[in-house]
Amino acid sequence: MAKLVDSHCHLAMKEFEEDLPEVLARSSGAGVERILVVGSDEQGSLEAFRLVRNRNDGMLFAAVGIHPHDSAMASSGIPGTIEELSVCPEVVAVGETGLDYFYDHSPRDVQKRVFAFHVGLARDTGKPLVVHVRDAYGDALEILRREKASECGGVIHCFSGSREDALAAIDLGFYISFAGPVTWPKNGSLREIAAALPMESILCETDAPFLSPQPKRGRRNEPAHVAWVYEVLAQARGISVEKCAREIWKNSSRLFRWGVL
Ligand SMILES: [Zn+2]
Ligand SMILES: [Zn+2]
Repeated sequence: MAKLVDSHCHLAMKEFEEDLPEVLARSSGAGVERILVVGSDEQGSLEAFRLVRNRNDGMLFAAVGIHPHDSAMASSGIPGTIEELSVCPEVVAVGETGLDYFYDHSPRDVQKRVFAFHVGLARDTGKPLVVHVRDAYGDALEILRREKASECGGVIHCFSGSREDALAAIDLGFYISFAGPVTWPKNGSLREIAAALPMESILCETDAPFLSPQPKRGRRNEPAHVAWVYEVLAQARGISVEKCAREIWKNSSRLFRWGVL
């Protein structure tokens, strides 16, 4: 069976409190051998880190940061907890961070400032960025350019932009990650983008517990379901799932340099 990576999920969230061992058993059963557990606020980042450190199984790794929805809590700088966690070996990336103008849960000027702080932290620690962008590709790319994010690289997670946005991010040394929405019937144009980008710049994720792929829609998402994202991506590109999985395994290892704990 092909080795799969879920390059973005939120296993430390309360949605998995009750049955995490079963969730992880199902993900192993589906061939998922690497999972990036992403924090989205100070407490959530600490919990993601603790989960990864306690399991210490070479399968789970962590990313720490403040989601744009919560950027008001970092408006005057990155919280000390996040800075401390970011240098730990279990933490392979800084994020998730970015800009979300769809929900606008935090003022845009605060989102931009906090995003720039995260780029600084990623450059300081030499770890890649996990970037969330919704309806804000122009500003996000401008900040990545201005703050010299090409020095640390990263991934645009759950990509939802245009082909030009994707190519601009790839130019900055970023990867493009596709999640459940690429499997939804109405998203034909997203599948076309996924088919056209260079294979060496692509990643796959669930963003669990959110954004279940088509066959699981309406239910909680979990890492085992990433298999559906691989399936659709392979189909769109006209390659086998095995080949798709091999390439994405290599891409994620190049980006996160994990497996060297
Ligand atoms: Zn996100
Ligand atoms: Zn997320």
